[in-house]
Amino acid sequence: MLIRIASSPEHRLHTCQWVDNTTSCRTDILGQQFPAHLRERHGITAVDSRLMKCRWDGCREFVQVTNVFVHIQQKHIAWKYACYNCGMEFPRANLRNTHFNQCRNTGN
Ligand SMILES: [Zn+2]
Ligand SMILES: [Zn+2]
Ligand SMILES: [Zn+2]
Repeated sequence: MLIRIASSPEHRLHTCQWVDNTTSCRTDILGQQFPAHLRERHGITAVDSRLMKCRWDGCREFVQVTNVFVHIQQKHIAWKYACYNCGMEFPRANLRNTHFNQCRNTGN
């Protein structure tokens, strides 16, 4: 089966707009390196269950530190998982996989 790796969010560039002090980061980061970037550059470690204010440019939402990456993924970088069969997009990989299992069986 052919998987379009290039279109999968892990392999796409996303612009980080996390604000440290007053400047937005503006670094283009490969999806799969985003969690590491947030940890190393912005000091966000996903072992903390306290609430923190999201410092993404323009965002003032409070999110659990452990959920910051998911929050960013869904709210700010519109990270989507596309169905390999029909191209329909989903916010989470498991939703895509569930859909894909049905989708490929129905055929065209
Ligand atoms: Zn950044
Ligand atoms: Zn946010
Ligand atoms: Zn589909």
